[in-house]
Amino acid sequence: MSRGFLLVLSGPSGAGKGTVSKELIQRNEDIVFSISATTRDKRPGEQDGVNYYFMDEETFDAKANAGEFLEYAHVHNDKYATPKEFVMNKVAEGEIVLLEIDVQGALQIKKNYKNAVFMFLLPPSMTELKRRIEGRQTETEEEIELRYSNAFKELDFVNEYDYFVVNDTVEQAVLDMEAIIRAEKHRVKRFKYIKERVIGEKNV
Ligand code: ADP
Ligand code: 5GP
Repeated sequence: MSRGFLLVLSGPSGAGKGTVSKELIQRNEDIVFSISATTRDKRPGEQDGVNYYFMDEETFDAKANAGEFLEYAHVHNDKYATPKEFVMNKVAEGEIVLLEIDVQGALQIKKNYKNAVFMFLLPPSMTELKRRIEGRQTETEEEIELRYSNAFKELDFVNEYDYFVVNDTVEQAVLDMEAIIRAEKHRVKRFKYIKERVIGEKNV
C-alpha cells in the first residue's frame, strides 16, 4: 500500500542538496527526481535533460505563460521552474517526486498541495557552507558571494518546513531523510480505505 506525494527539499546553495538527492534516488526506487527548467548556464559536467532543462528566457516565459509549471521563481540571477506534467503523472502512479527547489517555490507548493512534505537541508555551520560553495569550483567569486549572502536569507524560512536535516555526513543525512519518508508513507491521512483493504473489500 503506497501513495505518491511531493517531497520538497530546500536549503542554501552548497548545503549539499544535489549530493544527498542523488544518493537518495539511487537507493530508493520509488523516489524520482523532478528535473527543473532553468535559464542559467550549464556548469561543466551538467547535461540538458539530466540536471536541468536548460532554456533561454523567451522559451521559459512562454512555458510559464502556458501554465506548464507547477511553480517558478527567480533565484540568484536566473529563473527556475518545476514542469507540471511529469510531476503530476508520477504522483498519480504512486511515486514520491523529489523537488529540489528554493524557498519561494516551496511556499507556492505549500499553498497548493496540502499533502506535500517539506524538508530543509542545513549545513553543519556557515563556515562549512562557504567551504563547500567554494570547493565546488563551479561559480565565479561574485556568484559565490551572492549564494553565500542569500543563504542567510533562506535560513529565515526554515520554520515554514516540516523537517530539517543536517548534512554533516552524506550517509547520515540520507538515513535521516529515509526515516522521514518512511514515516510519511504511513500517515493515515494519505489513505481513505485502510479498513476496507484489511478486510478485503478494496484492493488499495
Ligand atoms: P547544493 O546542491 O545544495 O548547492 P551540492 O550538492 O552541489 O550542494 O554540494 C556542494 C559541495 O559540497 C559539493 O562540492 C559537494 O561534493 C560537497 N558536499 C556535499 N555534501 C557534503 C558533505 N556531507 N560533506 C562534505 N562535502 C559535501
Ligand atoms: P543551482 O543553480 O545551484 O543548481 O540552484 C540554485 C537554486 O535554485 C537552488 O536553491 C535550487 O534549489 C533552486 N532551484 C532549482 N530548481 C528549481 C525549481 O524548479 N524551482 C525553484 N523555485 N527553485 C529551484
